[in-house]
Amino acid sequence: YVEVTNLAKRFDSTPVFKEINFTINKGEFITLLGPSGCGKSTLLRCIAGLNSVDNGSILVDGEDITSLPAQRRGIAMVFQSYALFPNMTVTDNIAFGLKMQKLSSDEIQRRVREGIEMVELNGREDHYPHQLSGGQRQRVALARSLVMQPRILLLDEPLSALDAKIRKNLREQIRLIQQELNLTTIFVTHDQEEALTMSDRIFLMNSGQIVQSGSAEEIYTEPADAFVASFIGNYN
Ligand code: ATP
Ligand code: MG
Repeated sequence: YVEVTNLAKRFDSTPVFKEINFTINKGEFITLLGPSGCGKSTLLRCIAGLNSVDNGSILVDGEDITSLPAQRRGIAMVFQSYALFPNMTVTDNIAFGLKMQKLSSDEIQRRVREGIEMVELNGREDHYPHQLSGGQRQRVALARSLVMQPRILLLDEPLSALDAKIRKNLREQIRLIQQELNLTTIFVTHDQEEALTMSDRIFLMNSGQIVQSGSAEEIYTEPADAFVASFIGNYN
């Protein structure tokens, strides 16, 4: 469903990655796990179309999207820092992308209502971001992505600014929504417990390479090398 082949990205002359290859099935929940600076966010941004790539291709459902502009890829991304509009209500934040798509106001209203219910923000429709907790803000960011009905959802450490209890709660909810929608998802984290508990498969990344991919059990019981073993076992 998602097919990434020989993907390369450099900034000036410094390569972030040279040859990224993977495939993801429709509806799979992939966790991209790896240390700070290994290239996780850059890889997501290349898939989303927020960064250009220097070589290789990205296919979604057979369509080559490598050089499509971001807004035509059908890919939504949630960032660690929420990136909400501070002067807009919850409803208007969620509706913003839909308005850009020039959908009818009935359709926009219907999707916004669905989005709000999915992330359980009922009663907060008219709140502004500063009136919400971190977890609630991230729910708004998630709803804003979901209402676009993306083909792929990219989550770049969406939980890392939240405290442990809210993080666990929200990650379980993300997983439930993702399964219900059968939504192909790549979730970035550097929390290995998160990766081990919520993924269909884990892609373990180090210095611009995916060094191992597999189920939590495979990665935990058969680490491909010493890096994987120590990262899964000892990190944090
Ligand atoms: P973290 O876990 O800290 O978020 P990451 O795995 O997401 O790290 P990236 O943000 O993808 O890492 O960065 C990978 C490398 O690319 C780093 O060496 C970083 O300095 C470099 N890099 C990222 N964005 C840019 C940019 N816009 N210009 C130049 N270098 C960049
Ligand atoms: Mg990052």
